[in-house]
Amino acid sequence: MLNKKSVEDINVSHKRVLVRCDFNVPLDKQTGEITSDKRIVESLKTINYLIDNNAKVILCSHIGKTGQNKSLEKVADRLSELLNKKVIFIKEIFSEDTMEIVNNMKDGDVILLENTRIFEEEEKNDPEFAKKLASFGEIFVNDAFGSAHRAHASTEGVTKYLPSVCGFLIKKEIEALDGGINNPKRPLLAIVGGSKVSSKIDVLNALLDKVDTLIIGGAMTYTFIKAQGGKIGNSLCEDDKLQVAADILNKGLKNEVRILLPVDNVVAKEMSEDAETIVTNVNEVPDGYMGLDIGPKTTDLFIQEIKVAGTVVWNGPVGVFEIDKFAKGTEEIANAMANSNAITIIGGGDSAAAVEKFGLEDKMSHVSTGGGASLEFMEGKKLPGIEALEDK
Ligand code: AMP
Repeated sequence: MLNKKSVEDINVSHKRVLVRCDFNVPLDKQTGEITSDKRIVESLKTINYLIDNNAKVILCSHIGKTGQNKSLEKVADRLSELLNKKVIFIKEIFSEDTMEIVNNMKDGDVILLENTRIFEEEEKNDPEFAKKLASFGEIFVNDAFGSAHRAHASTEGVTKYLPSVCGFLIKKEIEALDGGINNPKRPLLAIVGGSKVSSKIDVLNALLDKVDTLIIGGAMTYTFIKAQGGKIGNSLCEDDKLQVAADILNKGLKNEVRILLPVDNVVAKEMSEDAETIVTNVNEVPDGYMGLDIGPKTTDLFIQEIKVAGTVVWNGPVGVFEIDKFAKGTEEIANAMANSNAITIIGGGDSAAAVEKFGLEDKMSHVSTGGGASLEFMEGKKLPGIEALEDK
């Protein structure tokens, strides 16, 4: 359970409320247009609550990386459409004009400040920068779940200067992830895929203390198969993680968690749409070939597990889903989850992108807006952007 105060626990009426949103939306490289507005849509509940409760709403967020200097201007336009209300966009955050605009705000007005990562001080969590940002508000609301695992000036630094609470999105995310992992309807099945064992060691170890069954897929598979003595051809493998993989398999035995690895796979000589593919046993990948998706036997096996699960938590695709030729396994897993009676939780990032690609978002119990944040939550780590908020 989330033991932090939310916007509903504080009087926001007539107050200037600084809200950290996660407007880190994907932009089309050519046109600069927003290609998915999911994160903007997810922020609406908190913003509308503040408008309806007569607050003066000052929004901030990062977009892209420090040094890329991307702009949130398109986000202001999209937000204006979604709120059916003009959102004033502030290009120069720390100018005298900005202070004047903020001081003249009326209840229910909404402004959006430019990308906080235009300033290097943001990621450094610079106290002076955080203080200047905090000076716009009388209350701070953090609703940026996607950045909650970062202690940056606009997520953690500002909490030192303002009464700080969470918004509805953070509340929803934590309740869904916490319920799914720490208080699940059993059996609890976790599906972990993706490219590297090294980036998933912590989550695999943490999940082995919680789940009944663990499915491992994606490129990670091959480090485990090699650790068991299998032949993996040119498949991705982290040779320095063979012992880690063996230790994870042993921990599964010790904890009486069933760990299921793929039994067959789709292999090709290259990772391209027109590559020729064959299906082989997962531990018999021919020389010159690499495993790029789970095979049909594995898909059936994994689907049977999804059918009997009470809760399914999924992090990381089981194949190269970005290329249609290797997307089938990931699509069938997503379909099985969408059609199951289990509580279905998608950790953000690539798994969320896959579910979106297959149009199945609405059929899942929860699709997280934060890849890194949900991964760290599942690892059992404290998220600094949430820790810093006021306790209930
Ligand atoms: P991660 O960021 O670690 O969750 O990895 C996600 C990436 O893993 C996606 O871009 C997938 O294309 C990639 N991936 C999944 N399965 C494989 C595979 N068998 N070989 C290479 N890459 C894979």
